[in-house]
Amino acid sequence: MAKDSAPAEKKASRAKKAPAESFQDKQARKSKASGFRVGAVILWLIAIGFEVVAILLLNGQFNFRFFGITDQMVWIIVAVVIDVIFVIIGSQLWKKSNDIDPASEKNKVKFFLWNNMGVIAAIVALAPLIVLFLKDKKLDPKKKKILTAVAGVVLVLAILFSVDWNPASAEDLEAAQAEIGDGLVYWTAFGKSYHIDPDCHTIRNSATKESGTIEEAFEAKRNDPCDFCALEEEG
Ligand SMILES: [Zn+2]
Repeated sequence: MAKDSAPAEKKASRAKKAPAESFQDKQARKSKASGFRVGAVILWLIAIGFEVVAILLLNGQFNFRFFGITDQMVWIIVAVVIDVIFVIIGSQLWKKSNDIDPASEKNKVKFFLWNNMGVIAAIVALAPLIVLFLKDKKLDPKKKKILTAVAGVVLVLAILFSVDWNPASAEDLEAAQAEIGDGLVYWTAFGKSYHIDPDCHTIRNSATKESGTIEEAFEAKRNDPCDFCALEEEG
């Protein structure tokens, strides 16, 4: 451990601040984020479509007999699994859009809800099924248990995969852009910080080191400034 490396050797290059992101670059970044957002919403709507299929199967309005499988419970489970897959992929696109174009955290409630829209989508696309399975009087008790358990497990999974655990804010990005300008930053495969110093002792021995602009670092979810080489020091 090279703990003795003097933190005093601050980068001289830090002093020269290149101009911030150009207007065109900012527009391009925002439209890229919008693409991911639209994709997320489309996938969530497809998920809700499969929720409807599951409900119609439950009510007997649909009756599938593909591959000789006539037990409708199997098809309900298939619909629920497809539902949750679309929810989770949609949420990943949603989180990506917020990495690229973070929301402002001036309104904390709005910031929380916006970043966790995937959780709301997961609840809308899955929770009603649990209620319907539980309330269904025609359903055999054993099937009811299985269906409720499946829907409960996938709902928990969907929520866990949809939460944005480490969202950046527009203010974080603005501050980082002001600090870094168009200079390069560095990050590693598993770290969550970005580094200004490629020889920072926390990443020096890392086998995989990537570099890019500060906007690219945020897109890769490296939105946390390294405590040793990237934290802005006042005075
Ligand atoms: Zn560092």
